[in-house]
Amino acid sequence: MHVVVCIKSVPETTEVQFDPITGTMLREGIGAEINPFDMYALEEGLRLVATHGGTVTALCMGPPQAQRELREALAMGCHQAVLLSGRGFAGSDTWATAYALSRAIDALQPVDLVLCGKQAIDGDTGQVGPGIANQLGLPQLTYVWRIRELEPAAGRIVVERLLEEGTEVVSAGLPAVVTVLKGINTPRYPTRRGLRRARATEIPVWAPEDLPGADPALLGLDGSPTQVVRVFTPPRRSGQAQLFEGDTEESVAALVEQLLADKVV
Ligand SMILES: Cc1cc2nc3c(=O)[nH]c(=O)nc-3n(C[C@H](O)[C@H](O)[C@H](O)COP(=O)(O)OP(=O)(O)OC[C@H]3O[C@@H](n4cnc5c(N)ncnc54)[C@H](O)[C@@H]3O)c2cc1C
Repeated sequence: MHVVVCIKSVPETTEVQFDPITGTMLREGIGAEINPFDMYALEEGLRLVATHGGTVTALCMGPPQAQRELREALAMGCHQAVLLSGRGFAGSDTWATAYALSRAIDALQPVDLVLCGKQAIDGDTGQVGPGIANQLGLPQLTYVWRIRELEPAAGRIVVERLLEEGTEVVSAGLPAVVTVLKGINTPRYPTRRGLRRARATEIPVWAPEDLPGADPALLGLDGSPTQVVRVFTPPRRSGQAQLFEGDTEESVAALVEQLLADKVV
C-alpha cells in the first residue's frame, strides 16, 4: 500500500505580519513547523502501513527551507519525501495548490490513499484536501476522526466523520483522499535513528517542469482564480475598566446605578 501524506510548512507563531502593499507574509525571522493537523495525518499514515504494509511518502509544496519539515516527517518514519518548490508555484491559491499537489500525486502512482490535515493553521480554508480529490477524480472523506476499516486488497475504506451533532460512518472505494481531525491519534516523536536516517536522505525537489502533464498556466499566480486583495489585522478595540469599591452590596448597587445612568439596562 502506498500512502501519500500532504504536509504544509506553516509559521510556528500566530503573530504573523504581512506586507501591507503586496499582501504577502513577512517570513523573515519566523520559524516554521509542520501544520499541526498534518502531524495527525502523518501518524495515521505510518500506523496504516505498519498494519497493512507499504510505504508512506510525505509531500509538501513550499519554499526550499520546507525541506526541514520534510526531514522531520522522514525522522518520524516516512519512507520518502518530495518537495515541490520553484518560482512557477509562487502565489498559488488553494485551487492552484491542489492542482500542483494532485499532479505530483499522479507522478507518485500507484497511490492507494492520500491523507491531509483538516486545515492549515495559517490559510485556514480547509479547501486543499477536497481540491486534490476533485482534481484527481477521487472520493473525498473529510473531518475523519477514525478509520474503522481499510482493505487495500478489496479497495475499500470505512471511516467515521465527526459532525456537529454526531458521527457519520462512510465507506468509499480506494484510492481516496481523507482529511483528518486532531483526535484521530497521538503523533509520535522522531526517534534518534529516524533523525540520523532523515539527515542522510536526499529529498527530491520538483519544479513545475518536473510534473508530468502539468499545465504551467494552471500553476502559481497565473493559475489562481482567486487573489488576496488585502490582508490586515483589525485594530485593537479600546475600552476602559471601572472598579467599584466597597462590600458586595455597595459595589453591586453602584454598578446598577452606573448601568442605568449609561442606559445600558
Ligand atoms: C505568496 C502567497 C500568495 C498567495 N496568494 C493567494 C491568493 O491570491 N489567493 C488565495 O486564495 N490564497 C493565496 N495564498 C494562500 C495559499 O493559497 C494557501 O496558503 C494554500 O493554497 C493552502 O491553503 P490553506 O492554507 O487554506 O490550506 P488548507 O486547505 O486549510 O489545508 C488543508 C490541508 O491541505 C494540505 N496542504 C495545504 N497546503 C499544502 C501545501 N502547500 N503542501 C502540502 N500540503 C498542503 C495539508 O494537508 C493541509 O492540512 C497565497 C499564499 C502565498 C504564500
